[in-house]
Amino acid sequence: MNVTLEAIETKKRGGELSEEIIRRVVEGYTSGAVPDYQMSALLMAIFIRGMSYGETLDLTRAMAESGAQYSFPECVDKHSTGGVGDKISLTSLPIAAACGAPVAKLSGRGLGTTGGTIDKLHSIPGFSFDLPEERMRKQVEEIGLAITEAGDLAPADKAIYALRDTTGTVDSLPLIGSSIVSKKAATGAGYLLYDVKSGSGAFMQNIDEARELAELLVRLSKSLGVQATALITAMDEPLGSAVGNALEIRESVRFLRGEPSPADLSEKARAVATRLLKLKGIKDPESAVERSISSGAAYEKFFQFVSAQGGDVRALKDLPVSSKVREVSAPRAGHVARLGALGIGRAALLLGAGRQKKREKVDPGAGVEVLLKTGDGVEEGQPVARLYGERNVEKAEQIVLESLEISDAPVDRTPVILRSL
Ligand code: URA
Repeated sequence: MNVTLEAIETKKRGGELSEEIIRRVVEGYTSGAVPDYQMSALLMAIFIRGMSYGETLDLTRAMAESGAQYSFPECVDKHSTGGVGDKISLTSLPIAAACGAPVAKLSGRGLGTTGGTIDKLHSIPGFSFDLPEERMRKQVEEIGLAITEAGDLAPADKAIYALRDTTGTVDSLPLIGSSIVSKKAATGAGYLLYDVKSGSGAFMQNIDEARELAELLVRLSKSLGVQATALITAMDEPLGSAVGNALEIRESVRFLRGEPSPADLSEKARAVATRLLKLKGIKDPESAVERSISSGAAYEKFFQFVSAQGGDVRALKDLPVSSKVREVSAPRAGHVARLGALGIGRAALLLGAGRQKKREKVDPGAGVEVLLKTGDGVEEGQPVARLYGERNVEKAEQIVLESLEISDAPVDRTPVILRSL
């Protein structure tokens, strides 16, 4: 029997796959020898039957070793499970680098309503992710901060993820865990922070699911020799105000320059940077984080990083966004009970900030700026959001209004950090 059929037979009966079988299937699928239909059947059997921790670790290792493997044992990296308006990599990592924790980061493109750091940085003219390992190493040594795209890292995950996306097998804990950790392990940073989102705008809709994923990510990483920690954070409303590529770079730059910024962004960027410094063993991390912002060192680090990766730093201070702007107004007075992340993310996507189809071109200047947060008071006719961009504006406005819930009674603000592991 061929190895994939043997794996399907074992898994469909609830048996356990050996390391050897997992490795051969992963190698076979990556090289094209295993056909999509067999891999799809195996993924569905895994989806239904689950995987033991040992199988999940073997799968993670096999995918991590399926392509190039970088090694940055002295560096920190972070991973977010995906959010709306999530610019924490853009803000916390320059802080960490400015405080002496070098960063070698792997980033991704936007997926559905969740934005990707790659798309955001691409809105800076000239910015490039063409960073082979040696160039990345040089940049880490010279300025302490480099971000690369998956490229030739973990090609097995790339192939398997694309298949999962079209076969209803994405939302499986062992498949998500192995997918995320394999890419991070292949990038090779020695210290990792996982930011697992929980809430209506996240993959994991409740805190128990988020905790389960966070624990798995940390355990897999530690088994592979990486020091790891996790935060579970709220994703019911967008993080900060800006949702969309250039809009988010603009908001991040303002934060790093110490300018007034949304409270949730400010709290979370500091918390993530502090955790990264702690993980790396840097003393008095809270004070170091504050100093890096107030002295301008964090912004200077971001500036150096953009310049090193070919970005036009002159554009940074006032990155152009779409000149087509429409304000959305509150239909009545009251208190904001919800301005939902999922709806705002969908509106931004429709305006052109993300891709509805894989090859669609992103409009870097498109997106949504939310002007109110849960718990804020609102008057009838007060602007609640600004829409930037020319595509699907009517539909985007309708979705923003549907995402807005106004209550007569005062509403509590939601916490940003829900749990630390
Ligand atoms: N992000 C990943 O990288 N992989 C998954 O499976 C899900 C989210």
